[in-house]
Amino acid sequence: MLLWDDPIGQLKPREPKNYTQALPVNELLQKVEQAENIAPTLSVNEASPPVIAELKEPAVAAAHASGLEQLEFGARRLAVDDKKMINCRADLNQLVPFKYKWAWQKYLNACANHWMPQEINMNADVSLWKSRDGLTEDERLIIKRNLGFFSTADSLVANNLVLAVYRHITNPECRQYLLRQAFEEALHTHAYQYCIESLGLDEAEIFNMYREIPAVHDKASWALRFTESLGDPTFSTGTTAADQRLLRDLIAFYVVFEGIFFYVGFVQVLSMGRRNKMTGVAEQFQYILRDESMHMNFGIDVINQIKVENPQLWTEQFQREIAELLDDAIKLELRYAQDTMPRGVLGLNVNMFEEYLHYIANRRCAQIGLAEQYPGANNPFPWMSELIDLKKEKNFFETRVTEYQTGGALSWD
Ligand code: FE
Repeated sequence: MLLWDDPIGQLKPREPKNYTQALPVNELLQKVEQAENIAPTLSVNEASPPVIAELKEPAVAAAHASGLEQLEFGARRLAVDDKKMINCRADLNQLVPFKYKWAWQKYLNACANHWMPQEINMNADVSLWKSRDGLTEDERLIIKRNLGFFSTADSLVANNLVLAVYRHITNPECRQYLLRQAFEEALHTHAYQYCIESLGLDEAEIFNMYREIPAVHDKASWALRFTESLGDPTFSTGTTAADQRLLRDLIAFYVVFEGIFFYVGFVQVLSMGRRNKMTGVAEQFQYILRDESMHMNFGIDVINQIKVENPQLWTEQFQREIAELLDDAIKLELRYAQDTMPRGVLGLNVNMFEEYLHYIANRRCAQIGLAEQYPGANNPFPWMSELIDLKKEKNFFETRVTEYQTGGALSWD
């Protein structure tokens, strides 16, 4: 068997080869000391600090490749069938041949839709925010609470991607998209910071809101536990329970956090834009919504691909767990709707949000092959479908890409 198919074998001691002959750490350090004739600053004796001592131990064999394996000189070339979404043992540093062309296409689409927060004119927002009677207290609350939630939310998503999900997704074209997504999360946090700074809001109050306002806190901490679970350095996929843990995290972040927890805020802020209020903030949110819609669709494609390759994970028990998880999430998001909007405002009220959350939750369930949990729910905000078009999500960018690339003013109709 070629070592290519056996990365664990690569970690075992092998016959030294002339071209890659590696010295044990202690011998290497001795040679450095001899060559430079310097007093040793590091030693690998009994008293060595743990970080050096660990280098003497063989690396723990992972259940899948990470991209950090020692390069196997002369190994055979990669075939498309070597690739798998999770638990893949083939080289992860070779982007091609593509197996998941949709992932590469999403990466290209995302790059074609690049934007920066400073491109959006905030002047009208600044004068409206500073005018005494330009906005009601309820409208101000909507802006502040949503900037409070979103200003830390995209950091949570970025952390989940970089510190938890990335190392367990064993496919280079998907990793390429994850890297682009991670940058977009940074861009979104930048956009919220830009709004907060432009309006002259109290930065500490807004950024600390997830530690001060229960409805904001509860959504953030609901999501954080999934990252904590996967971010555990001892965690590795490769068993049914561990693979389900990864799948659960992907559903929690892509389907719930980016697919449900963002939507009350999106509707509220975009409703202001449609009424010609806070149009700069609303335009920032509109660009973000379009990115987020892409993130969610990518995540759903990954989830479905994992299901196809690992059907044993999608048990009845697991589906019940996911349904409960969705139900908890809907309750948290409804509470967030009540907290951000204690009275009806902008033609919106909490009952409409309950209907809307059930409607989008049904849509998300259908997308991941789960039975609809809220039969009969309708969409009370058909104009949101015009913006992101839930029914046309798959080809959204193909129809809007030119408009998006110009960076010009967007239509609210
Ligand atoms: Fe996102």
